[in-house]
Amino acid sequence: MPKSLEDKIKDRIREAGPMSVAEYMTICLLDPVQGYYPTRDPLGADGDFITAPEISQMFGEVLGLWCVQSWIDLGRPETVQLIELGPGRGIMMSDMLRAASLDADFKSAVQVWLIEASAALEAVQGRTLANAGVPVHWAARLEDVPAGHSLIIGNEFLDCLPIQQMICNDPFAGKDGWVERRVGLDDEGRLCFVRIDVPAAAALTQHLPDGASEARKDNLLETCPAVAQIIDGLVHRFADHPGRALFIDYGPEDTEFGDTLQALKRHQKVGVFSDPGNTDLTARVDFAALSETAKNAGLTTSATVPQREFLSKLGIEMRAVALTRSQPDAKAVIARQLHRLSADDEMGELFKAICLSSADLPPPLGLR
Ligand code: SAH
Repeated sequence: MPKSLEDKIKDRIREAGPMSVAEYMTICLLDPVQGYYPTRDPLGADGDFITAPEISQMFGEVLGLWCVQSWIDLGRPETVQLIELGPGRGIMMSDMLRAASLDADFKSAVQVWLIEASAALEAVQGRTLANAGVPVHWAARLEDVPAGHSLIIGNEFLDCLPIQQMICNDPFAGKDGWVERRVGLDDEGRLCFVRIDVPAAAALTQHLPDGASEARKDNLLETCPAVAQIIDGLVHRFADHPGRALFIDYGPEDTEFGDTLQALKRHQKVGVFSDPGNTDLTARVDFAALSETAKNAGLTTSATVPQREFLSKLGIEMRAVALTRSQPDAKAVIARQLHRLSADDEMGELFKAICLSSADLPPPLGLR
């Protein structure tokens, strides 16, 4: 029998010592042969988790209108790259394009680029968007998309980027007071977290947000160096051609301490070390840190707005009314979908939207 991903991870730890949480996440989620995303379509009722575009077409539709308004804000360029990071099954893009097609000039300007790490999901996206009526391309990285005006969107993309975990060992020692938490093996050879009792490397502590200065001894903080890379990519793109990036994800507006790495399987939380490669691993997004990194890099950053407020400003209630009028039998279903997306005890408050833009654009719709 071929070795399981878990055994391969354990071998690596035995050889090289405890691995960073980011390395553990990367192997589990993206190992090309046994990783979570490359080997399956994890979304939907039959999968492990469900996302806003999977709940209702209304989500992508109002975002399509956001795209049209953003394209107008960019000065109606003749071509615009509509780039989606981590497009899942392609449903959100399909719904966005259908709604945005109401503006024929926008539709003829659009070139779609999908940034996807999973070959399995890329195939699904191809089928979903086969009749989109606009050119659709794939790229492995944002940097591979041709230069041009761009609108970039990522829904539940940042939460699956690899995080690092650090623990405050000495609150009075600044960045030198932090140590790293890694993934190692316990006495029985099982995967577990281990605290490395030397100051964490500068490559890690450089990503600590301002909020880290509030830490008390033994507080844990997560950072996401991959976010800084994405922001670099945006700065680079926007240097020549203006653009906007919209991120929607779950997480607090202000930096909070604590371990938020979680694993989901069949819509249930399971242990982060149970069945590596076969569970969805995510961590909450630190919107304060994201905003701070973006501002320091010179991007114009919107407020962080709860999903309820953002969708409402984009007119999702009116969309629900119109949809109900055309499908009266689906009235209760549509009401339930709206509730799931917007209610405070569902996705309305936990999920947030933020927009990072090049300079000199009007404030983005819904985030003003
Ligand atoms: N946006 C979709 C899917 C969210 S799941 C939705 O809302 O339904 C996360 C998506 O990001 C998947 O498509 C996954 O394959 C992709 N992904 C994860 N890590 C990635 C990476 N490093 N680069 C590109 N895509 C990635």
